[in-house]
Amino acid sequence: MNDAIFKLKGKLQHYAWGGYHFIPDLLRIKNTEHQPCAEYWLGTHHSAPSVIEEKNISLQEWIEQSPEKILGENVYHQFQGLPYLFKVLDVKDMLSIQVHPTKEEAIKGFEKETAAGVLMNAPNRNYKDKNHKPEVMIALSEFWLLHGFKSNTAIEKTLEEYVELSVFLPLFKNEGLKNLYKLFMEISQEEVDTILIPLVQKSISKKEKNAITKFNPEWWIAKLYAGKNNIKDIDRGIFSIFLFNILQLQKGEAIFQDAGVPHAYLEGQNVELMANSDNVLRGGLTPKYVDVPELMKHILFENKEPAFIFPEKFGSEKIYNCPVDDFSISTITLQAGEKYYAQTTSLEILLITEGAIIIEGMENKVFKQGDAFAIIANTEYWFIATGNTTLYKAFVPFKN
Ligand SMILES: [Zn+2]
Repeated sequence: MNDAIFKLKGKLQHYAWGGYHFIPDLLRIKNTEHQPCAEYWLGTHHSAPSVIEEKNISLQEWIEQSPEKILGENVYHQFQGLPYLFKVLDVKDMLSIQVHPTKEEAIKGFEKETAAGVLMNAPNRNYKDKNHKPEVMIALSEFWLLHGFKSNTAIEKTLEEYVELSVFLPLFKNEGLKNLYKLFMEISQEEVDTILIPLVQKSISKKEKNAITKFNPEWWIAKLYAGKNNIKDIDRGIFSIFLFNILQLQKGEAIFQDAGVPHAYLEGQNVELMANSDNVLRGGLTPKYVDVPELMKHILFENKEPAFIFPEKFGSEKIYNCPVDDFSISTITLQAGEKYYAQTTSLEILLITEGAIIIEGMENKVFKQGDAFAIIANTEYWFIATGNTTLYKAFVPFKN
């Protein structure tokens, strides 16, 4: 096992919406410069590649030395690289509303933008690669998010409930969800302000009086605007908070976001696993570029049930199977002295979120909370927990 298991060092992303303590505490590092720590990336993505510590080379360079052996034959032939990107997120302030393209749409979009000469780092570049970006997340704490459109009945009820929005009820009833959403995205900023400023002010005063909970759209609007002395230029993404499902996940609960499902993370911590891509089309709650026509092409205007993923339990392991070939994720929970035994079929990345383990047969190597390690395909391995221990394991599901 000595040449099959390697400690992996990921990259921190200091986006402004991140919290200050959760990820540094998890990684057992000090946030001396008091920077927001939004994400910790484990993978080969070129914008933040992980490093194999013992070898002092990037995970990508290491894989390239012997791709078939390291990734596994099947994975190499299907993907030619590591198909997944593994992250820890600490969401203090809400993220932008977004949707991800299908693989076919990503290829088309990438080629079109490249042919039009849009530079890769240009603010109006939508497609950074030719891949889809389905994603699964497992909550590490109570987690709040917007996910997909509510049912037509629920949307109708919402439009009736808020005087400011009730003018849109006839349009919704006669022309449907897509046309209502399109209108919200296309009306002038002046109209947006006329409709939403009173709603924002009411939301702030309701939150101050503790008259609303996080299940109310107004709670999130108040969180966005409370304390600002000049309430204007309201983000039109606020309309979406009234149209989307507001979901609360408890620790260990998981949800899958497929191409076309609009979503936004609101608050909490999670572990996220996705296809190795950075293709995001934004729909508001962001100062970043919003390409409305492109967004309209990719959103599914369907009232789908939220795609919760219920894990299957195998002893100390819970596997969250996702409806994609690119990745799968499991959690391993062990008590002191308990052993875990497995055989890899693809390159696996494991992250310890609590406790510590000893890998037997590998000079009894110890990994602790916050450590991540990569294991080559076709390796038999086993470890013992030295206390109450939790690990998250990313891998590629095996196909015959
Ligand atoms: Zn997303």
